[in-house]
Amino acid sequence: AANVRPADEIMAIRQRHLGKNLSVAYDSPLKIVRGMGGFLYTETGQPFMDGVNNVCHVGHCHPRVVAAGQRQMAVLNTNTRYLHDHIVEYARRLLDTFPDPLSVCFFVCSGSEANELALRLARTFTGQRDIITVDGAYHGNTQGLVDISPYKHDGPGGRGAPDWVQTVVMPCGYRGPHKGTGRKTGAAYARYVKTAVDCIEAGGRRPAAFICESMLGCGGQVLLPDGYLWAAFEHVRAAGGVCIADEVQVGFGRAGTHFWAFETQGVVPDIVTLGKPMGNGHPLAAVVTTPEIAGAFHNGMEYFNTYGGNPVSCAVGMAVLDVIQSEGLQENARTVGAYLLQRLSALKETSPLVGDVRGLGLYLGVELVTDHETLAPATDHAAYICNRMKDYGFLISTDGPLHNVLKLKPPIVFSRKDADALVDALEKVFAEDCLHR
Ligand code: PMP
Repeated sequence: AANVRPADEIMAIRQRHLGKNLSVAYDSPLKIVRGMGGFLYTETGQPFMDGVNNVCHVGHCHPRVVAAGQRQMAVLNTNTRYLHDHIVEYARRLLDTFPDPLSVCFFVCSGSEANELALRLARTFTGQRDIITVDGAYHGNTQGLVDISPYKHDGPGGRGAPDWVQTVVMPCGYRGPHKGTGRKTGAAYARYVKTAVDCIEAGGRRPAAFICESMLGCGGQVLLPDGYLWAAFEHVRAAGGVCIADEVQVGFGRAGTHFWAFETQGVVPDIVTLGKPMGNGHPLAAVVTTPEIAGAFHNGMEYFNTYGGNPVSCAVGMAVLDVIQSEGLQENARTVGAYLLQRLSALKETSPLVGDVRGLGLYLGVELVTDHETLAPATDHAAYICNRMKDYGFLISTDGPLHNVLKLKPPIVFSRKDADALVDALEKVFAEDCLHR
């Protein structure tokens, strides 16, 4: 009987008994009861193509991942203070995907836990407190992470940044002060990081860390300009700070050309945080760092995480890596992503609302504007398009500080046929009269 309540009754119970700051998607919310591959299904079996779930990375309820979790759950699930094969085997397999000297990992349960631990590692290693963050960024739900997430602390209910946070201009070559995605633009945006470092040093301190997503999510699906991280890391390291790459959204092959999106920038971070796709929906996340930083953190205070790295999580994580590899999903993200980007880019020719189409692999954004000179955001249009796409059976979302970027980040099993179906539907919606009055 638990799953036969009508949608409005569920809404009423949510309103009464769940924290109200938990919002639901769509003007008329969906009741979803099943997922398989790239699709979600309502209780009447109506299918929706999932164009936005980067958590169920290898497809919803992938049978190999489900079986791995079920099998291990029936045998043993306990904390990491006993010896077990899975955690060491998984650690080695995961670390094999990273360049030297990133060879130590900590298993946790969410992207927030990973970033929170990353800040602790950086602060312990450097003995400093100040953090440099990118405008528009979201790094997690704890107080410490809201403090370094302008997306939250500068938004409704926020109280701004604390004095130990320096916020740098978002390196967006479309809307930001420097245009394009080339090396000059990358270097120009990195200079704001240098300014932030100077500002910290002027106060007699040094930076603990610079944290940046390897592609910007809440910032509006922004592809970093060439050389941005390279130049920014130079500035931060010259002042003794460490560089954290947040790969919670974009890791595990989604970028297509590389397994980790930081690799597209030609850098090796000091700390990398992982989450969402890592467990295909199972709460699994990690921090990967160097022996030197991990060594400094080993200062007598234990880091214990009750659920992190348990045998079930590690079995699930290994199955995810197996599936990415055996099904060639990174390559799929590369080829289908390139095709989808090309089809989306063609929308610029037919719809005046399309200002910019960007991204890499299966992590793409379409920024909508009502005026190509002033870049006035087409925020209402974006919300309308999302709701109409739902009517056509496609789930996408909006993001960016102005909520005017259509966000595409489907499970990476997304096919060329799926891409065609999605863009065909987008074309129909873009052609609707009400968008052009
Ligand atoms: N970092 C980034 C870039 C994210 O997008 C998110 C979640 N949206 C987080 C960290 C936090 O992850 P979690 O919700 O698993 O705590």
